[in-house]
Order: sequence, then C-alpha cells, then structure tokens
Amino acid sequence: MKGPERGAASSPDEKAPQEGSKALRLLRDSFLGRIEESQRVASVKLAWQELWGKASRYLSKDELTRLGEAMVLASKAHEQQKRSSGEPYIVHTISVASILADMELDVDTLVAALLHDVLEDTDLSGDTIRSAFGENVLLMVDGVTKLGKLPFNSFEDYQAQNLRKMFLVMAKDIRVVLIKLADRLHNMRTIQTLRRDKQVRIAKETVEIYAPLAHRLGIYHIKRDLEDLSFKVLDPEMFYEIRRRVRKKLPEREQIIKQAIDILNQKMKEIGIEVSITGRAKHFFSIYEKMQRKNLSLEQLYDLLALRVIVGTVAECYSVLGIVHTIWKPIPGQFDDYIANPKSNMYQSLHTTVIGPSGEPLEIQIRTREMHWLAEYGIAAHWHYKEPGTRLNEMDKRLAWVRQALEGQGETPTEFMENLKGDVLTSEVFAFTPNGDVVSLPAGSTPLDFAYMIHTEVGNKYVGAMVNGKIVPIDYEIQNGEIVRILTSPQGKPSRDWLKIARSSKARSKIRAYFRQIERTEREERVIKGRELLERELRRREPGSEWNAQAMAGALNRVAHDLGYSSGEDLVAAVGGNSQSASTVAMKLLETRVAPPHEVPLEASQAAATPAMARKEFDTEIVVEGAGGVLVSLANCCCPVPGDAIVGYVTKTRGITIHRSDCRNIEEAKPERAVRVEWGRLISDRYTARLKLEGMDRSGLFADVSQAISSMDGNIIGVKASVVAANRARMTIEVRVRDVEHLYRIMAKLNTVNGIIGVFRG
Ligand code: MN
Repeated sequence: MKGPERGAASSPDEKAPQEGSKALRLLRDSFLGRIEESQRVASVKLAWQELWGKASRYLSKDELTRLGEAMVLASKAHEQQKRSSGEPYIVHTISVASILADMELDVDTLVAALLHDVLEDTDLSGDTIRSAFGENVLLMVDGVTKLGKLPFNSFEDYQAQNLRKMFLVMAKDIRVVLIKLADRLHNMRTIQTLRRDKQVRIAKETVEIYAPLAHRLGIYHIKRDLEDLSFKVLDPEMFYEIRRRVRKKLPEREQIIKQAIDILNQKMKEIGIEVSITGRAKHFFSIYEKMQRKNLSLEQLYDLLALRVIVGTVAECYSVLGIVHTIWKPIPGQFDDYIANPKSNMYQSLHTTVIGPSGEPLEIQIRTREMHWLAEYGIAAHWHYKEPGTRLNEMDKRLAWVRQALEGQGETPTEFMENLKGDVLTSEVFAFTPNGDVVSLPAGSTPLDFAYMIHTEVGNKYVGAMVNGKIVPIDYEIQNGEIVRILTSPQGKPSRDWLKIARSSKARSKIRAYFRQIERTEREERVIKGRELLERELRRREPGSEWNAQAMAGALNRVAHDLGYSSGEDLVAAVGGNSQSASTVAMKLLETRVAPPHEVPLEASQAAATPAMARKEFDTEIVVEGAGGVLVSLANCCCPVPGDAIVGYVTKTRGITIHRSDCRNIEEAKPERAVRVEWGRLISDRYTARLKLEGMDRSGLFADVSQAISSMDGNIIGVKASVVAANRARMTIEVRVRDVEHLYRIMAKLNTVNGIIGVFRG
C-alpha cells in the first residue's frame, strides 16, 4: 500500500517515482514507435502514457516490456478498426488495461485486457496469443470472449440476478470478470458517440447486471462509476438536476468539511495518531436512490456532509472513533461497526454520524488503509501484493482460493474467503427448466426444492422428476447446469417426509403451509360437525329451546372453561372430533341458562362464519364427465396408473377405455370419441404398469433389476427380455404399483442399477 488515497482511483495523474526515469520513458516510447503510423495519434499516445504511468508504479521492467509487446500486438490486430468516436480501436483496449492498473492487477491481466477483443473482432489466433504471452493470458482472453456471448437479453429482475451469479460461476478465473467490468466501464465512459437506443440498452444492462456484479465483488469505485454513467443515460434530467443542486451546495459544504478536518487533524496530532482525512463526495446515483427509498428531498438528505479517516491499525480506528465522539455529539442509532461485523462483500469500516461543527449531521467513516483498499477494490484488492518477491506465489494462492470459493469446494484459509464463501455465490447451484430458464437453488437442493422454486402448485403436485432425461429419486442432489423436469399429477400431494428431504427454506415453508392449511380445514370440519351434534342434542333435551348467538357463545365459553378447554370453539371442535361427548356439553350448556332468550337458530348465527365446504366425493374409480354407470377399462397399450393424466376413449364394444393422455394411440385416434375423465376413489390398491429397460447385457442383470423392484415394494407380474445388439439388453417388465408416484420411485431406483442405461414407461 503506497498511500491511503490510492484507493480513490480517480487520480491517474499521481506520479510514481519510477516514471520520471529516462530509461523507462524511452522504453515506453519505443513501443509507440513500433505501431502503425495511422495509429500514432494523440489519443493513443495519451492513453498509453497513462497506462504506463500507472503500471510502472508497481510492475518490473520486464513486466512493462511484456505490456508493451502486448500493446504492439493488439494495435496490429485492430489496425483496421475504429471506435464509433473515430479514434483507433486500440484506445479502448489500452484504457481497459489502464482501469485495471488502477487496481494494481498483475501483468497477465493487463496483457489480457490489451488483447481482450482480438479473438472476437480480429484475425489474430489463440495460438499467436499463447506463443507470445502464455496459456494463462490466452485463457483469460478466451474467458472474456465467452462471457461476451452470454445471453444478456432478459431484464426481468429474477433472471438478471441469476445471470450475475452464472457469470461468476462460469468465469473460473475471477480476473476475467474484472476485465469484463473494466471493459464495460470504458464503454460506458465513451457511450455518448452511440445511437440513443443503443445507449439505453447498454445502460440498462449495466445497471442490472454489471453494477450489481461490481457490488457483489466489492469493487465500489467501478460500481459507482457504472451507476452514475448509466443514470446519466437513463434519466438525464434527474441526473443533471441532482448534480446542479449538489454543486450549488458545494462551496458551503467544503467550508464545513474543511473546518471539521482541521479540528480532527489537530486532535490527532496531539495524541500522535497518523491519519489521512478526506471529504467524501457521494455519487449521484446513490443520492437519487436514497431520495427514492426514503422519499426525501435532496435538502433532507443529511449525510451529504461526510468525511473519511484512514489510519494504520484496527486499534487506531476505535481510538479515533472515541475521539470523534468526544469532539462532536454522536447521533444515537447511527453507529455501525462493520469492522467487528463485516458486510457480506467483505466491506469493513466504522460508521458514525455526529453533529458536526456547523450543527449539521456529519457522517464519518473510519478504516485502515487495508480496509480502504478493500472497500474500493474489493476482490481485486487481493491481487495487491506487499513484498515483491512473493508476488507470484501469493497470487497463485489467492487465485486458487477464489476458484475454490467460486466452485464451492474445500475450506479457505482466510476470513476474506470465508466471507466470500458465506455469500450466496458459492452456496448455490444453477439448474435449468426444460425451457432453459435458470433456477438458482441452495447447494444440495433436491428436485422437490426445484419444484417449489418454480411454483407452489408444482411442488404440491410433485410425483417425480427427471434430470437430464432420467428419472431420479426425490432426494437426488441437483448439480450445476442440469436440466430438471418436474413430473406432476393432479393426485399428487405433499407428504410429511418431504420436510426432511427439502433443503431450501422456501420449499420447507411451502410444505409446512400446506399442512397448516390441511389442519385448518380439518378443524373447520370438526367445528361444523360439533355444532350440528350440539344443536341436535339441545333440541333433543329441550325441544323448542331458544338460544341467541351471544348467549350461546357466552355459555360455550363458560362450559369450555369448566371442562378445561381454552375457548368455546375448541370445545365445539372437540365435540366434532368425538373427543368430548355432545350430551355432556349440552347438559352443561342448559345448566348455564338463566332465562330463556328469544329464538335465534344456532345455524343462522353461525352460517356466515363457516364457509360451506365444497367437496367432491367420487364413488367410482374413474369419473367420466357427464356420465355415470358406464363400462370403463384401463387400456393395455399404455397401462395408466392413478395419478397419470388420463383421457377416455369411447369404443364400440368395450365402453370407455382409459389411456394416458400421452399415449400414442390416443394421438392417432378420432378426437370426437375422446371424453374427459379423472381418477376417482381408488378401488384397487395395485395397478399394472409397464416399464421398458435398456441396459448393457451382463449376468445377474435381471436379478438386480427384480431385486430393485421388490425393494421398492413393487410386484413383477411379467417379463420379456431380449438381447437386441451386441451386449445390449432390452426388457419389458409389467409391475403392480399403487400409483404413479410409486412407479416413479421404482424407476428412479432402477436407474441406479449397474448397467441400466434407460428406464421408460412402456
Ligand atoms: Mn471491449
């Protein structure tokens, strides 16, 4: 760390000692001498000098030479190209490298940045990059090229959220993401030369994907710039209004800030703590956001006055905090200790707000240089090495941690990585629906979690799942990138075991909600029944007795209390559930009566409170719409079992045959003979299903298959087996199962049998 304000990143004019050296300047200019005449224009020269100035602060001469060679190669490759501003294309790639040099990233990253567009836009081959700069650089350039092809076209929030994470997961080397962010930042800085509609599209994408990505990685200085630049494109009126008003207040504010800094500096000198104090400008977009969020006007935003104190050690942070609080009165509830409790993106600092010298609130951040670097550059700060000798090893180690963290493997040795690991990034897997939508799930999620993630009803009707075309068990652990198809049935319903299987809190809470609802419904039914029983009992004991609702409620409560129930309704429910005798309660109710009130039938008073239960009772196994008493049979071609989506087909001689709605025979049949049917009350507890199995022929295969089926409580009633090709076996098995869910469980089990390569419904 060379200076506390290095992290501010906005001072490229800061001169490093080396840069003055004549030899280095000559070296710098020698590379300019090697590029095409047409490219040797002022904008290229300036960009190159700026990059060189930044890089020479921390790179060795050899590394600088590599950088120069990369610039020469990139300029040759992009020779014919111009940016929409008319400048040579190379200005862009040099500027991207320059943004990364602010963060003191290693020379490979800078070289890859210089070359980041060559694979996509020029004839230069990967082999040329590899032989000139090595495999690592090629991998990074290739990674940037691939990320550029990610389908960033959906702006739906949910999708964007997932894309950001995908982005991180797909870039195995986080430096690729850093190059991509720098690329976007430079494109945003130069966006004004593009057509308006293009500007809006790019700005939207920036705000929804790139800025949150920078935020997630803790790279605040990039996040801020991306947001302000997009804000300017998307809502120019508001942007300029805020800027105008902030600037109007500027001189006055600077005066107050200066005063505060002087007071604080004086105190620090007295007690001998070395500090660097700066005023801090809020970025416009965050002002706008805060105005929106808190519904405040600009004048009401009191933290416009802010300063930052940077010290050497953590202990000094707390000392400074103590001193600040003795100089100025702290505003209660405005103190945050992000040193003891770092934010999930690794941010650390002490935040406090005090009544400043002007009597206005003054926000103060206190942090060490290390924390400051981290706050500005986040994950990129970890490429920032201290001792030159250890740089490569250090970096390799850091890279390994990042990679591990991104892939979610293994433990990581530092708190930094712990924080990153704790972040959602690594604890998630991404799976796809058959339509290609991304679904993000906690690591270890099962198809059940996936189902509930899609929709509560999909979860509640879950009967099975296919992953990459294969039926899997309900507790299967979904892996990154798998395609998951959820099989549902109108008959499907949650089981209490699911609470043990589901990993995501979302799925578990939905399952719990389902059972709570069931319990509520059951209780409602008991209450209705209890009231009926009580009324009947009261009429029997005292024909013509009169109760009004209020008197009844009062009497019930009293009796409930006597009998140890907590409410009258509990008592009625107990009667309805047959755990309390109706006649005892009726007797006690009559005892409570003082005088006969006039008649209000119990039903009438309660009718409004208890919604009528709409219930379907089926007496037959198959309910045929609009008809009863028809002859029905289950088709032998597709063997439907309860839970399958079914359709009826009117035959000439055998009444209605029931087919699975995906049965091939039905597709070819006459549609006018199809009738709507559904499963009713099941008569049998076993139904025949047919399975087709494909496998590698081996001895003992069938024994293992039949063992698998019987272990899942299925009964085999018929088998046909044949060897269809060399070593290839095919089996058709008829098996008796309870329902489709039972069948799917058997299929999942069969998929685990050694040698079985496919399990299908026959
Ligand atoms: Mn680019």
